[in-house]
Amino acid sequence: MRIFDIQRSLKALGHDPGPLDGVWGGSARSALFSLFYVLRAKIAPGAETWPQARLLIAAEQAVMSARGVDLGMIDGLEGPRTEAARRSFAAPRPVEPQARPHAGSVIRQGRAGHPVREITLHCAATRPDWMRGRPLREQIEEIRRWHVELNGWRDIGYHWLVGRDGSVLPGRPETQIGAHVRGRNSGTLGICLIGGHGSAASDRFADHYLPAQGAALDRLLREISARTPIARVSGHNEYAAKACPGFDIRRWLERAE
Ligand SMILES: [Zn+2]
Repeated sequence: MRIFDIQRSLKALGHDPGPLDGVWGGSARSALFSLFYVLRAKIAPGAETWPQARLLIAAEQAVMSARGVDLGMIDGLEGPRTEAARRSFAAPRPVEPQARPHAGSVIRQGRAGHPVREITLHCAATRPDWMRGRPLREQIEEIRRWHVELNGWRDIGYHWLVGRDGSVLPGRPETQIGAHVRGRNSGTLGICLIGGHGSAASDRFADHYLPAQGAALDRLLREISARTPIARVSGHNEYAAKACPGFDIRRWLERAE
């Protein structure tokens, strides 16, 4: 599979590889990690540090795996299973958009039925000890009060919230358009991490959040990705001059931190 074929396949699978130019650049790499995200259970550890040659083989394995060819672990290494998969997967065949790993289910939002294809992460910008000892349910009611009474919105702006102890509860229903990222709310789910006060956009996840929150966020992203074709996981700070969610999301997604 040539780099061009990998780019084309990544695009057909709903991940943005940048221009289809046959050059293995940052956008293609980022699209690969986005696909890895969906396939995470199959990725051998350490992918973020693999050299380019191994990443390219892994890209080929990931594309084949996402399109239903069973080749075991995605490890970027040549082997009999990869060779057998390659033989059964004629490389430059047309790529059908419906061959996505979430088996066709889509979350739709609002009256227009915008398909959900993105998740944007946020923080509550609360101090580590904010409402300590109170259940996430009560913390959500407090944030809902800010959004409804102070901002005048009809409901809390986020779809999901992740508590300090790793508990996860819904906010606004997923089928309603949220209020969390200006100009990009349609077709996007907002997840809010409790914490993040005093953070900067370049900080690391662990500077402001607890391991239980990271594990819960991982599970939640995987669980949503199984129900709708998520092409991008973003941070609010990628679309606005804000610290929110208080860490560098690309680095966190690639687990380079
Ligand atoms: Zn935000």
